[in-house]
Amino acid sequence: METKTNSFKAEIAQMLDLVVNSLYSKKEIFLRELVSNASDAIDRAKYLGLTQKEILADNPEWKISISVDKTAQTLMISDNGIGMDAEDLENNLGTIASSGTKAFREILKEKGEGALPELIGQFGVGFYAAFMVADKVRVLSRKRGSENAFVWESDLKGSYTIADAERDEPGTSIMLHLCEDQKEYLDYWRVSELIKKYSDFIAYPIYYKDINPPSDEKKEDKKYREERESKPLNTMVALWKRNKKDVKDEEYVEFYKHLTHDYDEPFDTIPFSGEGQVEFKALLFIPKKATIELFMPQQKKGLSLYVRNVFIGDDMEMLLPQYFRFVKGVVDSSDLPLNVSREMLQDDAIIQKIKSAITSKLISTLESMKKDAEKYNTFFKSFGTILKEGVHSDWQNADRLKKLLKYSTAKSEPGKLVFFEDYVKDMPSSQKDIYYIIAEREEDARRAPQIEKAIKAGYDVLLFTDPVDDYLSESLREFEGKKFVDIGKGEVAFGTEDEQKAAKKESEKAAKELKKFIEAIKKKLEKNISDVRVSTRLEDSPCCLVANEHALPPSMARMMRAMNENVPEEKRILELNAAHPLIQKLSRLSDAEIEENIPFLYDMALVAEGSPVTDGASFSKKIAEIMLKI
Ligand code: ADP
Repeated sequence: METKTNSFKAEIAQMLDLVVNSLYSKKEIFLRELVSNASDAIDRAKYLGLTQKEILADNPEWKISISVDKTAQTLMISDNGIGMDAEDLENNLGTIASSGTKAFREILKEKGEGALPELIGQFGVGFYAAFMVADKVRVLSRKRGSENAFVWESDLKGSYTIADAERDEPGTSIMLHLCEDQKEYLDYWRVSELIKKYSDFIAYPIYYKDINPPSDEKKEDKKYREERESKPLNTMVALWKRNKKDVKDEEYVEFYKHLTHDYDEPFDTIPFSGEGQVEFKALLFIPKKATIELFMPQQKKGLSLYVRNVFIGDDMEMLLPQYFRFVKGVVDSSDLPLNVSREMLQDDAIIQKIKSAITSKLISTLESMKKDAEKYNTFFKSFGTILKEGVHSDWQNADRLKKLLKYSTAKSEPGKLVFFEDYVKDMPSSQKDIYYIIAEREEDARRAPQIEKAIKAGYDVLLFTDPVDDYLSESLREFEGKKFVDIGKGEVAFGTEDEQKAAKKESEKAAKELKKFIEAIKKKLEKNISDVRVSTRLEDSPCCLVANEHALPPSMARMMRAMNENVPEEKRILELNAAHPLIQKLSRLSDAEIEENIPFLYDMALVAEGSPVTDGASFSKKIAEIMLKI
């Protein structure tokens, strides 16, 4: 092929510009990124070799070399991994998924330039980190299974070239011509320090070699140099196989960053070995935030799986239940067959056992974390919404998961969340059930008329304001023998038995007195509501709307409608506070006046719960009339 000159895609050119022109201190991470790519390339070759024996015909001894030439000022990272052909070079090193770059630029804007080095890895643009220290980069590569090699070259002036080349063995070499002020990366000690710091756990040996030593090198110097160059710079012991007490925190942090490309440290690190029915080692991490997924929908989820030291894949969702999808990490098992395929893994009995052991370990980790309230709250703020799904989907663990959920309550100050067990502990003796109210916003839930009487009676109410909550409410059922009851639904009664009896009697009496008024409302609002009755839940407000005892939670109804199920729009019940002066006054007006004012009563109930009124213009005109009388 002739030498082909291509321009970088616009977004790469922009990003490279940022990389080259930024002045930050951690340029050293370029080495971590390139070594990480080399290690990935070997992982992939090994994995493909399981099914395509011919690509390993050369019987490779896996390794990564860092070769320096101090005279030419070059540093070369070579691997004998999968390699790239001309098309791969163009696709992998000339373009990036544009969604990725856009998100990259947005986060960079938000975080400032200081975050650039960490962001580079996270957004799958690690290769370009080379340009932080080099003014020219040359990639020589030969894909496994092919005799042809190609060379990709760029000096970063907006374009790159690809041409035919020669390479004795399959694999890739990335040669950097270092900038004048970046020569420190030629030095053995500097390189060795960086490999220890960032890449010690890489599973393949990383060697340093000075390929152009001074011609007048002394004999002892030569001996010393050759000796140290014969030993790998990294220990290669997989972190998850090492004893927890022998691993430094920093090592876990670096490994986490290598694995996830997260720029933050992990929130929690969980080394774990499964024993008994299946033997496996796992190293799990809970990230600090869920931001990566938010910005990159294509981000891989699930854990990385190794079988007898062979990397099988890094997005093994089947190892975790959906509601732990924010957990990252590695699982290594010798009990699985090597020639596994993704489809086989999905239903594999051993995988199911590993998954259930990991699930249980994660739950018990969170159970212990509960003792540290501040830490647990931080965790719950980031991932509580996702965790809640488990109560619905994992019936085996639902009881343990319920104990991990926290909610705001009507009585607790804003921002403070309580566990169900705390709620139950504080229940007055007359209270039989656990009450919750569903609303879109916490402010609306706190002020909801439906909870007035309960609060007066000394009962607290859980505020279900997360979109998953009302869906979840169907699965919660009971806690410590107490039923979960929607306070905005059906009939409710509070207080001691005597108090309840008295309240019932009173409301029956009121219903009789208000009979004519109630009938008038029913007739006027026929289209909007199914019934009108005297309320047992109102204290200060004149009226409110409640759902039927058996009504579906709003989100469920919405979902079923979206699935084309025939779910009719359910009319609610208007409840009146018979003791309220407004109701008293309205009920005594003339028939015509009652009829005129009924729609406002309905709109008031809607406004109180944060819903839009039926007729905004009339409602606001009415308010204006009233205000004029002030
Ligand atoms: P990432 O590694 O996060 O995908 P990079 O910009 O570092 O992003 O690399 C882009 C792609 O180039 C990689 O996904 C990989 O396909 C390819 N690549 C980079 N380095 C190598 C290598 N040493 N051997 C084979 N392929 C490589």
